[in-house]
Amino acid sequence: MTRSALDTPMMRQYLALKARHPDALLFYRMGDFYELFLADAERAAPLLDITLTTRDKGKPDAVPMCGVPVHGVDPYLKRLAELGLRVAICEQVEDPRATGGRRLVRREVVEVVTPGLLGDPEGLDAAREVALAALALGAPGEEAGLAALEASTGEFRATATAADTTGLAPGPLVEELRRIAPRELLLAAPIEATLAASLGAALPGVVLTPVDPASFAPREAPAHPDGFDPQAADAATRAAAAVLAYLGALQPFALRHAAVLRRYALGDAMVLDAATRTHLELFTSAEDGSRRGTLVERLDATLTPMGARRLARWLGYPLLDPAAIGARQDAVAWLAERDRRRAAIRERLRPVRDLERGLAKAARPSATPRDLAALRASLAALPALAEAFAPGGDDWLPGAEGAPPPALPRPRPVEAAWRLLEDALVDEPPVLLRGSRGAGETGFVRDGYRPELDALRDAARKGREWIAGLEARERERTGVASLKVRFHPVHGYGLEVTKSNLGRVPGDYERKQTLAGAERFTTPELREMEARVLGAHERAAALERELFEEVRAELLEHGAAIRAAAEAVAALDALQSLAEVARRDGWVRPVVDGGERLEIHAGRHPVVEAMRASRTGEAFVPNDTCLDPADARILLLTGPNMSGKSTYLRQVALIALLAQVGSFVPAESARIGVVDRIFTRVGASDRLARGESTFLVEMRETAEILAQATRRSLVILDEIGRGTSTFDGLSIAWAVAEHLHDAPGLRCRTLFATHYHELVELAASRPQLRNAHFEVREWGHDVVFLRRLVPGGASRSYGIQVARLAGLPDTVIARAREVLATLEAHAADPVAAPATPRARPAPAAPQLPLFEPSEPPLRPGERSVLEELRGLVLDRTAPLDALLLLQRWRERLGGGGRG
Ligand code: ADP
Ligand code: MG
Repeated sequence: MTRSALDTPMMRQYLALKARHPDALLFYRMGDFYELFLADAERAAPLLDITLTTRDKGKPDAVPMCGVPVHGVDPYLKRLAELGLRVAICEQVEDPRATGGRRLVRREVVEVVTPGLLGDPEGLDAAREVALAALALGAPGEEAGLAALEASTGEFRATATAADTTGLAPGPLVEELRRIAPRELLLAAPIEATLAASLGAALPGVVLTPVDPASFAPREAPAHPDGFDPQAADAATRAAAAVLAYLGALQPFALRHAAVLRRYALGDAMVLDAATRTHLELFTSAEDGSRRGTLVERLDATLTPMGARRLARWLGYPLLDPAAIGARQDAVAWLAERDRRRAAIRERLRPVRDLERGLAKAARPSATPRDLAALRASLAALPALAEAFAPGGDDWLPGAEGAPPPALPRPRPVEAAWRLLEDALVDEPPVLLRGSRGAGETGFVRDGYRPELDALRDAARKGREWIAGLEARERERTGVASLKVRFHPVHGYGLEVTKSNLGRVPGDYERKQTLAGAERFTTPELREMEARVLGAHERAAALERELFEEVRAELLEHGAAIRAAAEAVAALDALQSLAEVARRDGWVRPVVDGGERLEIHAGRHPVVEAMRASRTGEAFVPNDTCLDPADARILLLTGPNMSGKSTYLRQVALIALLAQVGSFVPAESARIGVVDRIFTRVGASDRLARGESTFLVEMRETAEILAQATRRSLVILDEIGRGTSTFDGLSIAWAVAEHLHDAPGLRCRTLFATHYHELVELAASRPQLRNAHFEVREWGHDVVFLRRLVPGGASRSYGIQVARLAGLPDTVIARAREVLATLEAHAADPVAAPATPRARPAPAAPQLPLFEPSEPPLRPGERSVLEELRGLVLDRTAPLDALLLLQRWRERLGGGGRG
């Protein structure tokens, strides 16, 4: 009977390993490939777009299989991790030659790659982070903890907060999770379905991984990084313990790399919820989700991957403490004031590559000599960088004023680590296979590093030289001019003699191999020399691998110093980036204080300004802002579409944010009373282009503001209420504006843009609310936007002029003017419009009706036309749609004669 294809030593080994990793795809190392078998192969082949074949075709239970090359495995791992899958990587853990071919090579799973522990970061975006997080939830009402590890850099942090109580909005911990955006979140098993659903909704794409609740016990943690107290029992420590336990189980070698646990408090940083990050386009553009047109792109003049990541981190966590902000500003100012020194620092940052990820790579078993050489190149750049801070020149005299401020870090070279790598490794080590053991790659250890290695290499070289000279010697001895020394991978060295010359072969030649037209021979001498060469070569290779592991271990001893240097480079690079942008674009240092005033003189939108300059060469028109609870803290912006309202709103928010990051700002001067949270809400139809929002979301977000804003918050409301019918929308906008003004606990600084110019009436009864609009000049039938903010409400909305600017055909424009004239002749009717909003009585101010109550009644149909016209968003209406609308309105108004 034929044996089952599953009944082989190899498949038995495979199945035993697979049994220990049932939830992961098993990548089984065979030579230069990782092979997948059975169900794993069937699952992975279509996902990875690789061919599914069968092993031992024709036998019972033929085994489905597919494979990926070891050499190019990283993209496949990345793809699977992004799909939420786990991969167990199984390597050969002994030299195949050690088995003498008599038994199977031993194999072990050396690492498990998961969505949050995406092992080797090859091909990862340098500025992006891939975080693994754990959430420690206590009983209701108890503190909850959160820990996050960025495995590719070893950055490890934890925080805790009072349990979420608001109910209405995602609590602070969930907001923080959204800010971290982990790929994978660990939760104590079993995960409740409702919790899974709400976390899934808050964190799209996250993989929730249930783990043993016991792994949250700090005492059980497999490592104790600085800042982690195994005796503690607080929620943050518990969450950190779960991360360590997970790491210890799946990638134990990485434990020593997560060397420091940083504790932080949510209250240290400005709250930026997901909606605000999106609307302000801090990290991703609203248009296409890319980095183009974002604030981070605008500010990024960093030169190293660490710097880019640090800058993004700072933007995500603006500071609240004026002293801390001032310290960062001091560092930016010092660099901004010193052009030559800054240029020198920039020049010397350039060759520093990713020290953090380089160190993490060195810690992995798959590290190659080339990885260590890359780390060496970065270490080599540090002394010159440190020297860039030497006193001298005319900008910093020793003992005099002008020394760098304390917040400006000066990276310290890690001489010993560099020296180690410099001595041990050749200048450009060859590429080696990931996790290759037993393969014969050699030549990466420098000559002179270890005398034994030199001796072996010497012996091998002498033998090869002897063999190389053999050809000439034997030709002479035998008189066969065509005799050649050949090498064959299996048969080794041979003296090749063609058939016609066989008669001249001497007696000491031993036949070795027969070819078509020739024979190969060996001699006792050659055989001995061959053995010496190959033996020396093999031992040299083994010694090199041993030395490599030694060097790697010794290098990791310098981990803390390398990490400290990386930290300093990251902060220095982020600071010089802020200084470079500030200097290049003429930004100024804002005053940030504990007051409540927000005052900007001649502010500009950092991104729009740059885009306009590069695209159209047109200047951006600067504008002032003043929000002050002691005077007026709500600015109501009215005026036509395209006049610049949305840009202005975002500009103010971005300037406040930049100021608290420690950056300079695009303005002539600015004073920012610390903002604890920026809320940004954008009306539904302004977001239709992104296809993301509904009126419901908009209202939910607005409700969050009303529930959560404090008197330190900055609230940006852009066209809220637009996503519903005109009267509903107007009523909602009206009520929200009133509430923002009147609610005693709120008192936040607010910018409110609306196309409902009925709202200008509110200023009469609300002393802390001011009207403003963007100046528009009419030229006959045209409008010109001056982009200049002036006090007072807008008088008209200029919708038709804007439509004309947008290129609507003249016939349509002319007809729209007719329709508008008709509509304006019959304004609203109080009987047919019972929803007419009225200002609620406010202290010491007369009530103002919103609409004139004394107008003639509308004819049937006219009201709906009026509503639709008012609700029409002209800059989002295609010309053809406008025509169809006009036609429909005309029918409803009983017209329809012409056309
Ligand atoms: P609104 O919200 O009033 O419809 P937007 O803020 O969307 O107007 O601005 C419309 C256009 O005007 C944008 O394309 C923007 O680039 C330009 N713009 C806005 N403000 C300014 C300004 N201060 N200077 C120059 N151009 C501006
Ligand atoms: Mg707008």
